[in-house]
Amino acid sequence: MKRETEDLDGLEGHAAGVIGVVGSGTMGAGIAQLACKAGARTLLHDPLPEALVRGTQGVLKGLEKEASKGKLTAEQARAAGERLEPVDTLEALSSCELVIEAAPERLDVKHELYARLSQIVKDDCVLASNTSSLPITAVAAGATHPERVVGMHFFNPAPLMRLLEVIAGVLSDKRALALAEATGIAMGKDTIRAADVPGFIVNRCNRPFGLEALRLLQERVADVPTIDRIVRLGGGFRMGPFELSDLVGVDTGFDVAKSFYELSFGEPRWRPSPIQAQRVAAGLHGRKTGRGYYDYAGEGPYRPADPEPPPPSADAIVDGEGPVADALRALAVGASGPRITVNGLGGTVDGEPFYTLVPLALVEVTGDAGEAAFQALGLHTERVQPAPGGVLARIVCQVINESAFAFGEGVGSLHDIDKGMMLGLSHPRGPFAWMEQIGAGHVLRTLEALCDEYHEERYRPAPALRRLAR
Ligand code: NAD
Repeated sequence: MKRETEDLDGLEGHAAGVIGVVGSGTMGAGIAQLACKAGARTLLHDPLPEALVRGTQGVLKGLEKEASKGKLTAEQARAAGERLEPVDTLEALSSCELVIEAAPERLDVKHELYARLSQIVKDDCVLASNTSSLPITAVAAGATHPERVVGMHFFNPAPLMRLLEVIAGVLSDKRALALAEATGIAMGKDTIRAADVPGFIVNRCNRPFGLEALRLLQERVADVPTIDRIVRLGGGFRMGPFELSDLVGVDTGFDVAKSFYELSFGEPRWRPSPIQAQRVAAGLHGRKTGRGYYDYAGEGPYRPADPEPPPPSADAIVDGEGPVADALRALAVGASGPRITVNGLGGTVDGEPFYTLVPLALVEVTGDAGEAAFQALGLHTERVQPAPGGVLARIVCQVINESAFAFGEGVGSLHDIDKGMMLGLSHPRGPFAWMEQIGAGHVLRTLEALCDEYHEERYRPAPALRRLAR
C-alpha cells in the first residue's frame, strides 16, 4: 500500500525536519509522537500549561509503550523523546518548516491562531490543519499566505491509524502539499489526496453509514440491535452504525450532520435525522453519558455475544441470475426443498421478500418461509420489514453512491476512496471493490427501487455510478 512521494508537477516533496505542533490534546500529542519518531525536531505548544504537561507526558508514555511492544528499540524511543521540546510560547515555533495545528474545532480560534502564526514563522513554513469538519479554505483565510496552508487530517488515535488525508484548499500551492505529503509518509502514514469538501474523502463517503441506518430505524424496517447485527455479521463491519454513534457521541454526530447539511446548502442525502435531535435533547449522548442507543450502566459487555449460524440441514432450489443467485447456488445444490427466487440483491421465498449481499453471510428475511429456507442452508437470518434493499444492501449501496458522487466531483480517486474507507474506518472493503463484487448494475437498480419507493432526491444515483454501470 505504501507509495513513494509522488512528484507534484516537478516538485519532489521532502519531509519537514523541524515540526511545530499546536494544541497538545488528543490529536496534537499523537501527532507530536509521530513527528519526533520520524526524526524531526518537534516543538509542541499549548496555551494551557497543564495541557502542555499532559500532552508531553502522553507522547513520552506513547513512545515507551511502543518500545515495550517491540515496535521501537529502547534507544529509538529515548532518541525520539529527546527530539520533543515542549514550548510555552507560539513565538518559539519561528524555526519550523511545518506547523501542524490541532487546536479546538472553532473557526474563530483557528483564524486568530493562523494570523499570529503568520507573523511568527519563516516565509516558506507550511501551516497544516488537522480539522475534521472545517473547510481548509476557510481556515486558511486567517493566514497572511493562504497558499501555504493545507489540511493534514490524521485519524484517532494518530500514532496507530495508518491513514492520512492531505487536503488542498482552494489556494494551497503544490509545494505546501508536497511537503505535507512527504512528511506524512516519513511518519509512516498511507496518504490519500482529497479536495476541500465537507468531510474530505473518508467522512464524506461514509455519511450514509449512519444516516441510512437512522432512516431505517425511523421507518421501522428494523430496530437498533437488529440493524447493528446485520451490518456487523452480514457486512463484516467491526461495529454497527448505532454502536459507532454511541462511541463517537450522538451529540458530536448530530453536530457533524448539521454542519454537512449547512455547508452543502441543504443536500438531501446529508439531511440530519430527527431521531438524532431527539436523542440529543434527551441527553442520550452515548457512552460518555452512560446511555445512548444502548445502556452502558454496569460493567459490560454491553452487547450479547453474536449468534453462530445454524448448521446446514436441508437444500433449496435457486432460480435467477447474478452474484447473489450464484452465491446461494454454491450453498444449495439440490433439486428439492423450498424455491428461492433471486432478483438482484434479494428476491422471494414463497412470495416473502428477502435481502442480502455478497459475500453471503446473512440473509434478511420478512417471514417464516425465508427464515426456514435460509437457516436450512446454514445461513444466519435476521427479521426485517419489507423495504427496497432491506438494511445492509441499502446502506452499502448508498455508501457506494456517495462515493461515486465524490469521485465524480473530483474529491478523490477510486483508489484513494477505497483505501481511505478501509484504513481510516476499518471498512471490510472499499466501496468500489464492493461495487465490483455485487455489480454496478445491481447497485443502480437498488437505488432506482429506493427512488421509486420514496420519490426523494436522497436516493438519486450519482452520474458517475450510471457511467460505471454502463
Ligand atoms: P482536544 O480538545 O483534545 O485538544 C485541543 C487542545 O488545544 C487542548 O489541549 C487545548 O488546551 C488547546 N487549545 C485551546 N485553545 C488553543 C489555542 N487558541 N491555540 C492552540 N491550542 C489551543 O481536541 P482534539 O480532539 O485533539 O482536536 C483537535 C483538532 O483535531 C480539531 O480540529 C479536531 O477537529 C481535529 N480532529 C480530532 C479528531 C478526534 O477524534 N479527536 C480526529 C481528527 C481530527
